[in-house]
Amino acid sequence: MLELNLFFHSVWLSIAIAVTDIPPPQSIAVIGAGIGGSAAAHFLRQQFGGDVRIDVYESEEVGGRLATASIDGQDYEVGATAIHPLNLYMKGFAQMLGLKELQLPNEVQAVYDGEEFVFEDSDWFIVNAIKLVWRYGFDYLRVKMWVERYLHRFMRIYQFQSGGYCFTTVERLLHAVGGDGLAQMTRHSIDEALQNVGIGQRFLNEMITPVLRLSSGQSVNINAFVGMISLLRADSDLWTVGGGNKLVCSGLLYAAKVNLIKGTVTSIHSKRRPQRNGEFVHLYEVNYTEGSVAGHNTYDLVILATALHPGKSPIRFHDPAQPISVHSSRYQEKVVTLVAGCLNASYFGQKHSEPFRPTAIATTAHAGSLILAASVAVPVTAEPDRQPPSCARVWRLLSPEPLAAAEVSRLVASPQAVREARWLAHPRYSPSDEASPFILHRHLYHLNAVEWAASTMEMMAISAKNTALLAHHRWYWQLEKVDQDTVAHGQKVEL
Ligand SMILES: Cc1cc2nc3c(=O)[nH]c(=O)nc-3n(C[C@H](O)[C@H](O)[C@H](O)COP(=O)(O)OP(=O)(O)OC[C@H]3O[C@@H](n4cnc5c(N)ncnc54)[C@H](O)[C@@H]3O)c2cc1C
Repeated sequence: MLELNLFFHSVWLSIAIAVTDIPPPQSIAVIGAGIGGSAAAHFLRQQFGGDVRIDVYESEEVGGRLATASIDGQDYEVGATAIHPLNLYMKGFAQMLGLKELQLPNEVQAVYDGEEFVFEDSDWFIVNAIKLVWRYGFDYLRVKMWVERYLHRFMRIYQFQSGGYCFTTVERLLHAVGGDGLAQMTRHSIDEALQNVGIGQRFLNEMITPVLRLSSGQSVNINAFVGMISLLRADSDLWTVGGGNKLVCSGLLYAAKVNLIKGTVTSIHSKRRPQRNGEFVHLYEVNYTEGSVAGHNTYDLVILATALHPGKSPIRFHDPAQPISVHSSRYQEKVVTLVAGCLNASYFGQKHSEPFRPTAIATTAHAGSLILAASVAVPVTAEPDRQPPSCARVWRLLSPEPLAAAEVSRLVASPQAVREARWLAHPRYSPSDEASPFILHRHLYHLNAVEWAASTMEMMAISAKNTALLAHHRWYWQLEKVDQDTVAHGQKVEL
């Protein structure tokens, strides 16, 4: 598959010089209106200008894995919640669309190991620092420095992208911005990476595993890159979009002046249409269904902005001349259950007489699989400090499987108003040598290839920008900014 893409790319390169006056594309299809597809529509409009028609297909709700559910008239996030202060695209989108950044409250965190809390935050910073050093030595600081080292390298992507540079595979992107060190992170586990910098088993079990269970529902066997991105969830100053993160998607689609087509894309066919002058033009026919009605449209460019799950609503790809092979793989199920009520202190090994302080509970691998994490849910419309001070709150329970009513009652006393959202949340990560190509065919791109390195709102926005640049540069044969690897070639690129 990778060879095929590289072949296309080199064919492109070899004839690029001959091409001079290329007409702009007339129409582009984006399949999926999650943050990836919406950001792609925005960046495609920037790259290709106001005249090209952009159609966005969405089979369900705009926002995809960004979604809210309502309890007692208040909306809460049931998909992606937290945005890191260094997520520059998400920050820029919120500012551009006039959306408010709601700071997530500082949580009282606790780690549950199946019997008791092995760690619980104190109200005093100094007490927390002493507790951490007492139990884990300086592992906390070592991990923080490790994360910052690689994050700093990865953040060069913003400079590369503002200079117009883009990449044909996820691996090339990581290598160009961070060299071998960053590119190798997808090939080994975070367990291995952190043990190499001297992190002890106790810290891995009690601090790293719980954050990974919370963010990806997985263990320390996931690749070190997604592990590093997941650990950012433990930082402070996280925020969420006032009114709901999904407003970024609807706002971007509106601002990019797209046509939103409510329908399920079923197949994409590569077509060669003869021209009057005897030449051929290459187009993609996108077939879709809208209820019981079927339709199709043709496009110059197609951006696939959805994960492809084997066996689930497959999109068929067809080219009579050459097979189009698409990487699909298994995703981790994650269920978010919102419940109003008081968390059962006794479930977490606490006595009822003790005040129950934690507002965010993460779990170790020994805690079993009933829940991965539980935290106080923050309404998307209210400032966090408007939450009632009593124990009766809306809790967000994260579990690998749907919770039965009896299980909800074990966790929350007299549960009220239960809302559930089931997700195929993230790829099942493991260290891998496999290259994830963004190019599937001449002008057919897969934005979600990036999910194999890590899947967050910002990663999808970065991938959207990469895909828009790639689509633009390959359309106009401007290939000097494609796969430019300063590290590998020892070149200096002006960024
Ligand atoms: C429970 C949960 C918590 C998370 N927490 C965070 C967090 O705190 N912070 C963070 O940054 N990230 C978080 N994430 C990850 C984040 O949600 C994803 O990385 C991101 O939303 C993926 O966006 P996407 O646009 O690529 O995919 P999606 O949001 O899945 O969008 C794809 C869209 O394509 C549509 N579609 C699919 N097939 C077709 C078809 N055939 N025809 C038409 N339309 C189609 C789907 O309906 C969907 O709307 C979380 C995810 C989950 C599930």
